[in-house]
Amino acid sequence: MKVAVGMLSHETNTFSTVKTSLRDFNPLCGNEIVEFYKGTRSGVGGFIDVLEEEGVEIVPTVAAGATPAGPLDRRDYDYLVGEIVEGVASGGVDGVLLALHGAMVAEGVPEAEGILLGAVKGIVGDKPVICTLDLHGLISEMMVSNVDAIFGYDTNPHVDMYERGVEAAGVMVAALEGRVRPTTAFKKVRMMPPTINQRTTEGPMVKLLRRAREMEEEPGVINVCLFPAFPYADVQRVGSSAVAVTDDDPALAEELCEELGDMFWELREEFLKPLTPVEEAVYRAVRAEEGPIILADVADNPGGGSPGDGTVILRELIRRGAKDVGFAIIKDPEAVEGAIGVGVRGTLEMEIGGKTDGYHGRPIPVRGEVRTITDGVFVHKAGAVGVRADVGRTAVIDVDGIEIILTEKSHAPNDPEVFRRNGIEPRDKKILVLKSRGHFRAAYEPFSKEVIEVDAPGLTSPNLGWFKYENVPRPIWPLDQI
Ligand SMILES: [Zn+2]
Repeated sequence: MKVAVGMLSHETNTFSTVKTSLRDFNPLCGNEIVEFYKGTRSGVGGFIDVLEEEGVEIVPTVAAGATPAGPLDRRDYDYLVGEIVEGVASGGVDGVLLALHGAMVAEGVPEAEGILLGAVKGIVGDKPVICTLDLHGLISEMMVSNVDAIFGYDTNPHVDMYERGVEAAGVMVAALEGRVRPTTAFKKVRMMPPTINQRTTEGPMVKLLRRAREMEEEPGVINVCLFPAFPYADVQRVGSSAVAVTDDDPALAEELCEELGDMFWELREEFLKPLTPVEEAVYRAVRAEEGPIILADVADNPGGGSPGDGTVILRELIRRGAKDVGFAIIKDPEAVEGAIGVGVRGTLEMEIGGKTDGYHGRPIPVRGEVRTITDGVFVHKAGAVGVRADVGRTAVIDVDGIEIILTEKSHAPNDPEVFRRNGIEPRDKKILVLKSRGHFRAAYEPFSKEVIEVDAPGLTSPNLGWFKYENVPRPIWPLDQI
């Protein structure tokens, strides 16, 4: 038996002015994929482990993932899809396993995953196509009708990519051996809650997931997963969705989705959550007796497509004279270049941050001592453990007690390794500023005293009224009262 394996993962924030291109994906081809992902806690790592154990021949196609930003360059998207399709077509495979995100958009292609899955299904016909999706995936008819089964992450922060990969590959093997015939249904609800309260350890998702787990105990049910939705993609398929996979029982799959769809709607108000104004957040952090106090810059979250160069919180920290601060990150290649120019222990004096667009505060003049300079490469010890991260050349500058990590690339600092790699021990800091909406919690909450979600401006702000939507289906909650 032969199974094609591929990955194409991007969470596209269509409001971002930063186009995503092939360079950002750094795609791996053929055997490189197995070498890179084998033994990692990633979805593809899960595929590989199961297929190898079951003696299934792996046909690696392309594995490409990029930090969330604006829509993919159309030619690069076509190229990546073409490479996966080509790999599937030439491999003579019995099935296809793909690790996708679900909220990917290319220029002129709002249905980026749907088109890919349609092309793959067009080649393999009735052979199984199974994919994993991020919990923030936006599910569409085109996607569902071109796959046999979907396995969405059940955790947020996402820590179960590997487990979902294992599950998907296990069902693939069972389908190939004729032990199951997976069929998938979905239900979309007219709501697009902000991502701020989509965590799976508290809030409305706990109730939804509990019911989903109960459903999975019923005979004939293979998988039930929930997609509360990523609202920063201005596309028709936006909206919360439930997906159910059963063993050849489409009616049961539909029924389960209907129930979860109703539940989503009933719980919608619980997805909303107030944020703390910038001044108050910084005041509380500075006054706190013990740290680390985490100031989460949820609206400038590179994990959701913001640039990661917002200056509003930094400006307030400087104004208040905050000390003992670790600040991750400000993406500013020009500032990194400047820091390298003056060298370690040199003084960097320039404007930093706020250079990508007009949404995240103005560039801010600073004078600081360069503490460290690194290549910005580290290996994840949290989340996708074992996977290599590359945030570009990186410098830390100390501005009167605020240690700022300057990077060449956007990066959500969800793994404390980004601090440690650059000579800062995050546990020892009084205040940590993290440009992240919530994925940081898995690794940082165990050692932090408090998390304050700050209401700074940006392209991942939970205040959805701020965005100019043109393509989402209307009416939709919370933009409209329904
Ligand atoms: Zn996600």
